[in-house]
Amino acid sequence: MTKNIPPINSKIPHLPFGDHQDSPFYGRDIISVKQFNREHLDYIFDVAHEMYEMVARVGSFDLLKGKILASLFYEPSTRTSSSFTSAMERLGGSVIPINNVSYSSVTKGESLPDTVRTLEAYADVIVLRHPEVGSSALAAKYARKPIINAGDGIGEHPTQALLDLFTIHEELGQVDGLTVTLMGDLKYGRTVHSLARLLTLYDVKLNYVSPDLLSFPSELFDEIAATGISQASYQSLSPVLADTDVLYVTRVQKERFEDPVNHEALKGAYVVTTDTMTDAKEKMIVMHPLPRVWEIDMAVDEDPRAAYFRQMAYGQYIRMALLAMVLGKA
Ligand code: ASP
Repeated sequence: MTKNIPPINSKIPHLPFGDHQDSPFYGRDIISVKQFNREHLDYIFDVAHEMYEMVARVGSFDLLKGKILASLFYEPSTRTSSSFTSAMERLGGSVIPINNVSYSSVTKGESLPDTVRTLEAYADVIVLRHPEVGSSALAAKYARKPIINAGDGIGEHPTQALLDLFTIHEELGQVDGLTVTLMGDLKYGRTVHSLARLLTLYDVKLNYVSPDLLSFPSELFDEIAATGISQASYQSLSPVLADTDVLYVTRVQKERFEDPVNHEALKGAYVVTTDTMTDAKEKMIVMHPLPRVWEIDMAVDEDPRAAYFRQMAYGQYIRMALLAMVLGKA
């Protein structure tokens, strides 16, 4: 029998944070932003910045040569799936794309744990998007390889929150001391849930602007209040716009509603236009996780404060950093 090859059913280590000195995230799942502290964030942003410089200089390099990512999406995605693919390929690795589960054994009734156990037989890391809250945590219970949560229903979207925070950091030079206004569908928007949680690690002021029907979940409000962060809710942007450093806009998550939503009724509640921008600070940014539907008028795109397309680009570097870290190469 060949020596030194671990048996096929051996576990790769799932080390607790910080136990592996060179790569604190080596072998770890990334399920929730609750896993991170300020030190982790500084580390991730340093690595992401290095990735940015490397891509600018050489385009791609072989850090993850021979490694395989399984990209498993039970819900639509443009940016998250393609930026994970580009991240893996720029690092010399390759991807098994299952971006339309209707062509996979899922339609034959295969369970999530079995699908994940299948993919990890072929891949080194799995990125998962699924409509149910807790699905990534469930997958991670069964998987021996790292699971990265790419959105679990209305739960969390931790890699988006990391790229959002990285955007604020890169664009405004700091996070402490800022007033961040989250506006739109704060009830079902998973990106605002993750971002608000992550921002509690900084000294920020949080404003929530939404129609009643789409307001920020009260349990999450209480969870954030317990950290001592100042928060306030509004139905309109005008009282807080002039003080806002980061205006983070989200679309109505119409796929999450049991009853079809009356978009027309919600539409008037918040649309960012060039008029809105005349009342905003000179040094501030407008962000959006995208896709945009009608929440930001296209005329705003020309404004240098419109950061949403740059925000999307930062995602590739954050995801390169995360892949390198969980695979023990950063
Ligand atoms: N792309 C983001 C998400 O997957 C935001 C959105 O869909 O509105 O949550």
